[in-house]
Amino acid sequence: MRLYKEFHFEAAHFLPSAPPGHPNSRVHGHSFRVRVTIHGEPDARTGILVHFEEFEAALAETRAALDHRMLNEVEGLAMPTLERIAVWIWDRLHNRLPGLMEVMVARDSCHEGAIYHGPRMRHAAE
Ligand SMILES: [Zn+2]
Repeated sequence: MRLYKEFHFEAAHFLPSAPPGHPNSRVHGHSFRVRVTIHGEPDARTGILVHFEEFEAALAETRAALDHRMLNEVEGLAMPTLERIAVWIWDRLHNRLPGLMEVMVARDSCHEGAIYHGPRMRHAAE
């Protein structure tokens, strides 16, 4: 069984790795959509894998750390690409959300996103 929950955040960033003169080298903003997926077996008695209130509480802290921020100034996000944001969210959540399986970060206005399934080493050990 997989369960997912989504949240949105608005943030500014620039990409220090972009070539000089490239639009991404200048400060700009996006509306980001994040979907976090966990997996596991629902409890046989309650029929519940995780209480959505707990799921939401874990995500709320992460959202607060990103929403209306200059992402380059967030610790660990000096290079705030979609890829790095997905890994950053994973690293923040994996101890709080048993069964964490996937973090998706999308910029819907650009029709693009990143999907992360965790470090290769950890994945292989499962
Ligand atoms: Zn951007």
